[in-house]
Amino acid sequence: MNIQLYIKNLIINYIEDYKNFSNCRTDWEEPIVGFADATDPLFFKLKEKIDKSHKLPTELLNKAKTVISYFIPFNKKIILSNTKGKIASKEWAIAYVETNKLMLKLNTFLRRELKKEAIDSVKIPDELNFDEKKLISSWSQKHIAYIAGLGKFGLHKMLITEKGCCGRLGSLITSAQIEPTKRLEQEYCLYFHNKSCTKCIENCFYDILTLKSFERHKCYNICLENSQIYSHLGIADVCGKCACGLPCSHTNPVKKITK
Ligand code: SF4
Ligand code: SF4
Repeated sequence: MNIQLYIKNLIINYIEDYKNFSNCRTDWEEPIVGFADATDPLFFKLKEKIDKSHKLPTELLNKAKTVISYFIPFNKKIILSNTKGKIASKEWAIAYVETNKLMLKLNTFLRRELKKEAIDSVKIPDELNFDEKKLISSWSQKHIAYIAGLGKFGLHKMLITEKGCCGRLGSLITSAQIEPTKRLEQEYCLYFHNKSCTKCIENCFYDILTLKSFERHKCYNICLENSQIYSHLGIADVCGKCACGLPCSHTNPVKKITK
């Protein structure tokens, strides 16, 4: 069995089915999937660089061999909806809430399917997701995705994948030995490639994101304001203005110009 293909297909097919059986309003593009060696030295670097509370895969699953990381891109209409005005669009807020629900169910499904193949996996404990005081996570999905070869960081501090940066990242730690995905040398952000773009900075109404800095706490306060507006939808502490309507919103713009 080609285990990489098997897992990719499980994820792709589950999301396709979910669109039909879940009554959700969000539409997603086909996800992309990467695999990281659970002992990759970059996991140790995360502890040093982000916070010593950041977990190693083996701290969460004793026999961890591979971390599966996936990116679920939002449909272009959702991205377009969030290009106007200062407040996050309702479609963007709904997509965030509904994708979080989808990922919980997807991971439960994956764990069940992998168990049938004698592969163990672990649910990431909720308390590792986001520390509202430190504004960091002890299991940073975007850094995990970077290690798993899903993309590179952009000037806006988000991960740019082959399908852009607008979507949600999830992961699962498993005991399966799977060939890791190679990380590419090339940048995915036009600014880091040839300084030809700073559009994400121009899109931040609040000057929170600049060439030299990113004021994480101020950004989170904007997200909390949106969360208040959309509290009837669930937890939607989002903004995303610096992710939408950009060359990197739904594609890898460097690949586009270097093909
Ligand atoms: S908008 Fe331009 S500068 Fe900003 S992350 Fe995307 S490609 Fe990079
Ligand atoms: S999420 Fe919103 S507030 Fe935060 S940096 Fe991006 S545009 Fe600015």
